[in-house]
Amino acid sequence: LTQLFRPLDMLGWVYRNIRQGVIDMASMFDLLDAHAEVRDAPNAVPLAIASGHVRFEAVHFGYDPDREILKGVDLDIPAGATVAVVGPSGAGKSTLARLMYRFYDVTGGRITIDGQDIRDVTQSSLRGSIGIVPQDTVLFNDTIGYNIAYGREGTTPDEIAVAARGAAIAGFIQSLPNGFETRVGERGLKLSGGEKQRVAIARTLVKNPPILILDEATSALDSRTEADIQATLEAIEHGRTTIVIAHRLSTVVHADRIIVLEAGRVAEQGTHAQLLRKNGLYAEMWARQAQEREAEGGEEVPAE
Ligand code: ADP
Ligand code: MG
Repeated sequence: LTQLFRPLDMLGWVYRNIRQGVIDMASMFDLLDAHAEVRDAPNAVPLAIASGHVRFEAVHFGYDPDREILKGVDLDIPAGATVAVVGPSGAGKSTLARLMYRFYDVTGGRITIDGQDIRDVTQSSLRGSIGIVPQDTVLFNDTIGYNIAYGREGTTPDEIAVAARGAAIAGFIQSLPNGFETRVGERGLKLSGGEKQRVAIARTLVKNPPILILDEATSALDSRTEADIQATLEAIEHGRTTIVIAHRLSTVVHADRIIVLEAGRVAEQGTHAQLLRKNGLYAEMWARQAQEREAEGGEEVPAE
């Protein structure tokens, strides 16, 4: 692509595709990559995943030099654990995910995976090891099978079917007249928000990454669909290091640890029960959201 497009043509192409809603964020950044500052170090080696232990050590970062967004963040995400990051909008939660995927480099401190600074490894190996389920999944104008397989080259129909089952969307696909060959997207079948999220989950299962990032993966869904998808997500978190970024706290009660990020700093961390006992920011957010759920007449979520 780099040889075919000049940078401005490329941006125009990306922009038109975003407008048409046919490209997802990860692939957009992959495309823009060719022109981004983040490049492989000359002596970069492939990331060697032992267990998937992720650490942020005193991480500082700002998109602009005069406005620091992350102000010394320490995170320890044990291999195979599910760690949630919650906090007010604008706190820097999605920025943590972007730094892990190396859309940007930290300006201070470091991020390691199994002890390797992510700046020392190849981007292809890093990104191949991390699956992201974003808030809004955008589908390609192609078949539903293609949209699932997009996660990896050389995927077999069998693997696509297994991933669809894992994402609990196989029954729906089989009910379509053309099954996996059904065209979706702008020029095909329109899928609901929940169905699109299931395609994104199936895509991630095809990729089978040791590290998983869910960035508000269910926040665009109504609470009934969210509850359905939630169970599927919790199933795929097993055996992977998972970072769940969430606005609705009811979706992170199950996490091994919850990090409360506020204005670029870790304000509190602990389990749901520990944080409630602390009576700090988390407890306050929990109480506020419980009130909102009651006002909506939604189902009760047990506190512990
Ligand atoms: P959260 O996910 O917690 O809501 P973000 O990590 O997306 O917050 O953003 C943290 C801060 O960084 C916000 O103030 C946001 O406006 C700013 N920000 C996010 N992306 C960019 C960008 N590409 N350029 C400049 N500022 C940005
Ligand atoms: Mg965000």
